[in-house]
Amino acid sequence: MSQELVVASGNRDKAAEVAKLLADTSWRIRTLADYLPVDEPVEDGETFEENALLKARYYVAAVGAPCVADDSGLEVDVLNGAPGVFSARYAGEGCSYADNNAKLLRELASYRGKESRQARFRCCAAYVDPEGTELVAEGTVEGHIAAEPRGANGFGYDPVFIPKGFDATFGELPPETKHAISHRGRAFRQLRELLTGLE
Ligand code: IMP
Repeated sequence: MSQELVVASGNRDKAAEVAKLLADTSWRIRTLADYLPVDEPVEDGETFEENALLKARYYVAAVGAPCVADDSGLEVDVLNGAPGVFSARYAGEGCSYADNNAKLLRELASYRGKESRQARFRCCAAYVDPEGTELVAEGTVEGHIAAEPRGANGFGYDPVFIPKGFDATFGELPPETKHAISHRGRAFRQLRELLTGLE
């Protein structure tokens, strides 16, 4: 019988992407919605890796099954890597994706050329199980920040991120294209490789 693997994220958009990326494995994919309501942990790590591990360890203790969690965000070079680990709440606690994008475009208003708007998405994916096995994988995608939001696909900063080699934002590109090159796609494909060793 295949083993359960819980995609442990309170963010439905991210959980849906991760469930898709792990869909054709022999694991039986579950989400936090399959368990009793679990409070979210405080994400006080200083790096994506610290936060991904902190979340995976927390949810394993809460649900008692193997969990994968990710921590991800956008790093903008001229903003010294901001919003970074604060990507979800860049415009303040409880802000919307649109608030974050508006703040980012304001901060970059005086930077006009593509070269000065260089950025990357980074994702750290962590697997932790009740026996204490811990695996970590990381993925990035380089690109730049668009002049204004474009497209309704994806979530978060997708409408303002143009991946290298494309003219369209992640918000405009089909989900399959995003998954093929995205930070999360890369991190979870690598994590899958590591997980096959455990199956
Ligand atoms: P966390 O990993 O849940 O702490 O939050 C990550 C935040 O980074 C999200 O709320 C988004 O704002 C942003 N982010 C991470 N991955 C993506 C992505 O694939 N597209 C757009 N925004 C993303």
